[in-house]
Order: sequence, then structure tokens, then C-alpha cells
Amino acid sequence: MTVKVTVTGAAGQIGYALLFRIASGQLLGAETPVSLSLLEITPALKAAEGTAMELDDCAFPLLQGIEITDDPNVAFDGTNVALLVGARPRTAGMERGDLLSANGGIFGPQGRAINDHAADDVRVLVVGNPANTNALIARSHAPDVPADRFTAMTRLDHNRALSQLAAKLQVPVTEIRKLSIWGNHSPTMYPDLYHAEVGGKIAAEQVDGEWLRDTFIPTVAKRGAAIIEARGASSAASAANAAIDHVHTWVHGTPSGDWTSAAVVSDGSYGVPEGLISSFPVTSTGGHWEIVQGLAIDAFSRERIDLSVRELLDERDAVQALGLI
Ligand code: NDP
Repeated sequence: MTVKVTVTGAAGQIGYALLFRIASGQLLGAETPVSLSLLEITPALKAAEGTAMELDDCAFPLLQGIEITDDPNVAFDGTNVALLVGARPRTAGMERGDLLSANGGIFGPQGRAINDHAADDVRVLVVGNPANTNALIARSHAPDVPADRFTAMTRLDHNRALSQLAAKLQVPVTEIRKLSIWGNHSPTMYPDLYHAEVGGKIAAEQVDGEWLRDTFIPTVAKRGAAIIEARGASSAASAANAAIDHVHTWVHGTPSGDWTSAAVVSDGSYGVPEGLISSFPVTSTGGHWEIVQGLAIDAFSRERIDLSVRELLDERDAVQALGLI
């Protein structure tokens, strides 16, 4: 059966890096035909048409159709996978309230359209920033969709952390297991090496504490800015790659003996208030995320997690005060 995948902000940089990989089968597997729905704001429809022409020109065997629209009710009609990439970026001098309001105007109606029109098995991944809070807004407008279908992306932070640790210990990334990103997809997120394993031993015990605190954590947190500085443009291919990884793992599962990171609706685990969309160590089985339970959290980790969760609470309070959720 053909799976409908909706990509918002389809004419943007991440959209451009994402669509071809979805159409080639890397999102859902080489056996699954896909149809693409490209949602854009009206002025960007022409650019989306250009991307669609290039998709046509690839003659992807799995690609069953492409739809381009500026209407969320059309884009999410019957959709199985919704990748919410388009968001209102923060511009110079913009107040946080303005940013949240602008995104509320995008993610509220999209959540409602998903609620009213998406397929019963819809899975939603929010990439557009502030991703966790945008996901919270969308979710709150979709009361008929099970809460656990709304997620936000911290897989890029996870992959960045894997790569930094692998380089430090001079091991392939495949040697690393059980790395976790906690909290918000923002510079406050916490990459946890106290449960990560390299060659079966705890990663934090294989690096010195100063490197972990003063190099590793800030490098992962500020990687986006470092890429803008080097490339003159924000990361796009790596963000698209992480979105592919997130949905692929959601659908196909985590390998046994390992987990990954995703921002999912909290059930109150690890003291993260219920209902917040926060990153946790998660496994995926049978198409469902589960928060890894029973990890001991030391004082250092507790402080970092609390800081990031506090930021999420502040964002939630702000969108609540603005009437966006
Ligand atoms: P990008 O495609 O580069 O980025 C899109 C969003 O992803 C931004 O919110 C960006 O956040 C976020 N993001 C998350 N993680 C990363 C990461 N690691 N690196 C970079 N970005 C990340 O933006 P473009 O401006 O190229 O394209 C956005 C498109 O969205 C435009 O075509 C616009 O027309 C469209 N849009 C569509 C909407 C809709 O479909 N209704 C609504 C709003 C916009 P950050 O800004 O923090 O980098």
C-alpha cells in the first residue's frame, strides 16, 4: 500500500535535502511505495513546483505521485507520515512572544488539519523550531489523534553527539550504544554519556570530566552555529538525515540492546512534567516509542536535565498565556 508523506516547508533547504531521500525509499524502505504532498506558503509554491519537477526527473520507482498545495487540509488529507519542517524563523529584534505567536499561527491550524484529515495511523515529526513547543501546539489542536503520535526531532543532536564521541575515542560510531539526549532541542539539551556504552563500558568513564563538561556538551549544543559560521548557511542535509533516521527508527524499531533519542510526550518519567514534549532515551517496538525506564540519574545529569526542562516549561507557559494551546 502506498504511504502518503506530507512535508511542510517543502521548498526550503531541509525540504530539498529530504524529499529525494523519501522518494528513493530511505524513509520507509525499498518495498514501500510513497506519494508526496508538498505543503508551502503561497509565495513558495512555484519553488515547490521546481522541486517536484526534479523529483519527476529522478523517475524514482517507488514514487507514486506528488501533490503541491498551500492548504493544510489538502496536504494532510489521508497522510500517514507528516514531517513539519516549515516554521517561522527568529529574525533580528523579534521578541520571543512574536516568534511563538507566528509559529502558533502555523502549527495550530496544521494540528487541526491533521486531526480532521490524516490517516488513523498518522505519525508526526516536528523539525521546524522551536520544535518541541511547535509539536506541543500542533498536538493540542489534535485531540482525536493519540498524543504519542506527536514527536519533535532531537536525532540530529543525538547523531552529532555520536560523532563527537566516536572522534574523541577513535572508534567507529557503530561501537557506541545507549547515548541519550534529554530535554529541549535547543542549546540547553543535555547529551548524556553516563549511560552510553563504548565497547561495553560506560562512555563517561572513558573520557575526562573536563572534556565532557567543557568541550563535548558545548560542541554538540553549538554545532548548528558552527556550521552556519563555516558554511555560510544553516545545516540542512544533516537535519534532513536525522528526520529520515527518526521516522525510519519509529517504523522499523531500535536494534536490541540499544536505544535512541526523540522528543516524545512525557508520561512524567524522570520528573519531566506529564504532557511536555521532551527528549528522552527511547526504544521503538511495533511502531511505538517507549521511554527507557529505570536509569539512575546522578546530580550532574539531574541539574542539566532540569535546566532544559525548565526552558520547555517556560515555553509552554508562554504559549499558554498567548492562548496558543
Ligand atoms: P530550512 O529548511 O533550513 O529550515 C526549516 C526549519 O527547520 C527551521 O525552523 C529551522 O529552524 C529548523 N531546523 C531544525 N533543525 C535544524 C537544523 N539542524 N539546521 C537547520 N534548521 C533546522 O529553512 P528554509 O528557510 O530554507 O525553508 C523553510 C521553508 O518553510 C520555506 O520554503 C518557507 O516558505 C516554508 N514555510 C512553510 C510553511 C507552511 O508549509 N505552512 C510555514 C512557514 C514556512 P531555525 O530557523 O531555528 O534554523
